[in-house]
Amino acid sequence: MRLMTDLLYRRPCAGRAVSVFFLFIALGLLVSVTGGAGAADTSIKGIRFGENAGRTRIVLDVSQATTPRLFLLRDPNRVVIDLAGAEWLNTTPASARGVVARYRHGLFSADTYRIVLDLSRAAVIARSFTLPPNGKRGYRLVIDLEPADQDRFLAAVAATRKARQASRVPEHDIVQTPVRRASDKRVIVVDPGHGGIDPGTLGVLGVNEKIITLRMARVIRKELAKNPRYEVHLTRDRDIFIPLRKRIDIARRHGAELFISVHADAIKNPKVRGGTVYTLSETSSDREAARLAAKENKSDLIAGLNLEEAADEVSSILIELAQRETMNYSAEFAGMLLPEMRREVVMHKRGHRFAGFVVLKAPDVPSVLIETGYLSNRADARVLDSAEGRLRIARAIRRATDKYFERLTAMGR
Ligand SMILES: [Zn+2]
Repeated sequence: MRLMTDLLYRRPCAGRAVSVFFLFIALGLLVSVTGGAGAADTSIKGIRFGENAGRTRIVLDVSQATTPRLFLLRDPNRVVIDLAGAEWLNTTPASARGVVARYRHGLFSADTYRIVLDLSRAAVIARSFTLPPNGKRGYRLVIDLEPADQDRFLAAVAATRKARQASRVPEHDIVQTPVRRASDKRVIVVDPGHGGIDPGTLGVLGVNEKIITLRMARVIRKELAKNPRYEVHLTRDRDIFIPLRKRIDIARRHGAELFISVHADAIKNPKVRGGTVYTLSETSSDREAARLAAKENKSDLIAGLNLEEAADEVSSILIELAQRETMNYSAEFAGMLLPEMRREVVMHKRGHRFAGFVVLKAPDVPSVLIETGYLSNRADARVLDSAEGRLRIARAIRRATDKYFERLTAMGR
């Protein structure tokens, strides 16, 4: 880890030191002129952290001068750096320092790349500016953080609210009437958990859950699509963040009759293994199920979604009347899926459990969440990240799906 003495001790000239306030003005003008940024205009080629005189400096090597959207979030305290039309090309991880405990990054939306800094204590943005290329390095985006008391931090959270709102993911309200089915086919939506700025859990083999779930979902789609009576969609087909509620919305917009969310778990005990099928319930079937639902429901928080939205997403699950029938169908599908899964992979003793997963809350789409296994267990992790393991799980899902829809057809639905 370099200390970046050249940067740390040089004061930027006054013209380059731009206050956060002016950054917002500048960005507003930029957006109004260009009508929004295109994809990947700016490459992020490096990230470094340094400390000097109590301040923490974050330096991003960027391919061109760029204006970030910067804002602060509380509970937990975070700094969010959004870059419009940017892509991450850096391959050298840096250790966080100073007030930054750790950081993560990923696509937040189709045209916004996000870096989230988790703070070890309250801090504010002291200044932010861009350095032009010198002989050694290209453009650098520099952000200085300084420790602050909680009051000053909260004031800064409020002051950066505008930037936060500019980065809001468009709200897709859930319509209470069913979406009309567009085709005669049975529509199935497969939902690869996490993505983009939300990596999910980190496996013992070093692969993130978001990668495992996307690879798995693609194989499931391919397997299901072999049945000409099915129309299959994914909630995401790339490494991008999708808010929990938007995943439900995607299923409803497609007129889905079945929603399958794919995840993989991780816990402290590396010996624990086996998959579990979850369906929605007001009360969790057990403590383990409650822990897992709380963890999965944090996705939006991890992505730095703004507080009001995130609070709404993780609010307690209240089951509406219309949802009860849907829940029965979900449980029926789970009951068919479990034995098929057992034929292919190791499943938990209590293989069907219940908890308040936000992503399962579509009022009219039968939904299950499959924790395909534990990435904290070596044997499970190998299965989940292998072509054969993916195919086994996909086949189990196809057989269960066939049975489920055959039964619906027999019942005249
Ligand atoms: Zn997950």
